[in-house]
Amino acid sequence: MSAFSPEQIVVLGQSPTPFYCYDLKLLQQTLDTVKSESGKYGFHVHYAMKANVEDEVLELIRSAGFGADCVSGGEVEKALRAGFSAAQVVFAGVGKSDAEIIAALRDDIFCFNCESIPEIEIINEHALTLGKKARIALRINPNVHANTHHYITTGLEENKFGIGVNELPAVLDVIKLCEAISLIGLHFHIGSQITDLNVFKQLCVRVNEIQEWFVSRKISIQIINVGGGLGVNYYEPDKERIPDFAAYFKVFKRFLEIRNGQEVHFELGRAIVAQSGTLISRALFVKKGVQTQFAVLDAGMTELIRPALYQAYHKVENLTATPGSKSERYDVVGPVCESSDCFGKAMELHTIKRGDIIAIRTAGAYGSVMASHYNLRQLNPPVFLK
Ligand SMILES: *Cc1c(COP(=O)(O)O)cnc(C)c1O
Repeated sequence: MSAFSPEQIVVLGQSPTPFYCYDLKLLQQTLDTVKSESGKYGFHVHYAMKANVEDEVLELIRSAGFGADCVSGGEVEKALRAGFSAAQVVFAGVGKSDAEIIAALRDDIFCFNCESIPEIEIINEHALTLGKKARIALRINPNVHANTHHYITTGLEENKFGIGVNELPAVLDVIKLCEAISLIGLHFHIGSQITDLNVFKQLCVRVNEIQEWFVSRKISIQIINVGGGLGVNYYEPDKERIPDFAAYFKVFKRFLEIRNGQEVHFELGRAIVAQSGTLISRALFVKKGVQTQFAVLDAGMTELIRPALYQAYHKVENLTATPGSKSERYDVVGPVCESSDCFGKAMELHTIKRGDIIAIRTAGAYGSVMASHYNLRQLNPPVFLK
């Protein structure tokens, strides 16, 4: 069984490959689920823009009423152009440039998630010059292990992200001196593709401890932002087309100590868009190796870098296999001049012939946004299934 109907496969076959295909119906269902499950507890959700910035995708997300979590000035600008209101935009990132800070202050975004003392001082300086008040949240590094690939772990002491707990007294001293800074929240983001909900429970426990520290100093915190990171099922996408948001939000309801009047914010990227996107390519050649055979596709690491960058697995399917054809083993590779340009080794696929349409699944997050022109390659425009 395929995620695509025979009619859809015909449509996909008419477009020049490689290209990304987005199932907007599935995206809408996913958004509806996030909305109803987070709404049960009055939680607020911001979409992490960096996962996917296709206009059609942003439009559905904006219409669903979510805010935007940005990690660069370019993303802030894009979010505002896409129609998110400034009051729904938050700006995180360990290296915000002066130009980015000034533009975001001028736009009156909702909140800067600050990652260091010098950053807070610079935001204060620019806000004073512009006659603005900057709302900030402290991105605190809670030193919680996310049990995910080390390249996408962000909440450990050794990572560059966030402010260490031992630095908090110094941070408060600085904030007291910053007239144009208003501390409104605490922010945490410990990593991505987290599938063990226990990790989020541990995060809640740490957040409670850290909050206690602020309360004991009579500092009231209006917003607790617990970041994103909920994982998706890359191995069996059709078994779990929509991640288990009910269980996810319930963990926070159960284990996070939410104080009176406090808002809880989430920043989800991958879990919202990953399953809606597929990279569609064509098999160019089947090439014999010594111990193996290679399926050479017209898509590679320039379109989807996750396998090369984080050894990520994506399910690969032959959408135009001859009915009843047997399974064979292939190393599925792209055309780029790098040995790491490989989607997977010894993958079991229905017999591939030249021209078959090959789907690389669960590619809606961190796919097209990381595409490059290396080897002067050109990605074709996306196709949206409605
Ligand atoms: C990347 C990122 C997110 C989103 O992570 P997902 O794993 O895609 O949900 C949220 N917050 C911050 C600060 C990020 O950098």
